[in-house]
Amino acid sequence: IRWTEGRGWHDAQLVPYAPLSLDPANMTLHYAQTIFEGLKAYLQPDGSVATFRPEANAERFRTSARRLAMPELPVETFIAACDTLVKQDRAWVPSEGEASLYLRPFMFATEVGLGVRPANEYLFLVIASPAGAYFSGGVKPVSVWLSEEYVRAAPGGTGAAKTGGNYAASLVAQAQAIEHGCDQVVWLDAIERRWIEEMGGMNLYFVYGNRIVTPELSGSLLPGITRDSLLSIATDLGYEVAEGRISVDDWKRGNEDGSLTEVFACGTAAVITPVGSVKSTRADWTVADGEPGEVTMRLRTALLDIQTGRAADPHGWMHPLGA
Ligand code: PMP
Repeated sequence: IRWTEGRGWHDAQLVPYAPLSLDPANMTLHYAQTIFEGLKAYLQPDGSVATFRPEANAERFRTSARRLAMPELPVETFIAACDTLVKQDRAWVPSEGEASLYLRPFMFATEVGLGVRPANEYLFLVIASPAGAYFSGGVKPVSVWLSEEYVRAAPGGTGAAKTGGNYAASLVAQAQAIEHGCDQVVWLDAIERRWIEEMGGMNLYFVYGNRIVTPELSGSLLPGITRDSLLSIATDLGYEVAEGRISVDDWKRGNEDGSLTEVFACGTAAVITPVGSVKSTRADWTVADGEPGEVTMRLRTALLDIQTGRAADPHGWMHPLGA
């Protein structure tokens, strides 16, 4: 679907997957006006297909667009575009367990020019790819590297938007994580380098027995849809749930005195991943016994059961597409 200044959204098309041809002076290549989303379509027990919370992705896409001075796509147009593609690619929706069809809606500037200003033409696209179960052979805890040198996002920046620049800025820190033998980077706040923000592509949760805490939306972390869903699911399951500030010292201390029983990360791709160990320039430690925790696995199953239609959907999150 195209957007042109003065004309708005127009020319919705369903076309075969193919390369795009871009002018060398395409404004996106230079000034990075680009935003995206990620969501999944799951096969349901009755053979139909449903997407998980597409309106939440559509709303976040609008928020990202506002921050990047891009036009806002109506929620219903975003959902209709996803529905159209899933129906077309129905045969690509995997049938086994946790597998899904991953959808990647995105928008970028198509105007040609070398002046720094919001573009006057954009293209919104949705592409899809089958995604297998994230963990083959059982859920495996990840090891994380606390990034003290680099920050992902600062107050007033683009951290709460899903825009390519945030990910470009994260690559050197992710490379450092790998160099230190870790799977993922954990970001701290930009000012004090003290408060836990999020992981490279997932939000974090800290479990203290029956109490579950996730870092509050500081404005510089991505408001994850999985994070938001778990606030409700954990409450439904009887946990005491809170959003708050958690420092690196809180994490270390909770681990030492045994009050912190589990830590996990959550996002569309992996749903829920236990965090098994932490490394930083100051200290390394294992989270509890380093194994997937009971609360982590219970929440993981509860969310996946809703997504795959094995359990009731009390919050009306599933968006059915028909058989
Ligand atoms: N944080 C970042 C930086 C991400 O890229 C993602 C993945 N979209 C998340 C958190 C988790 O968000 P969601 O649950 O909406 O996938």
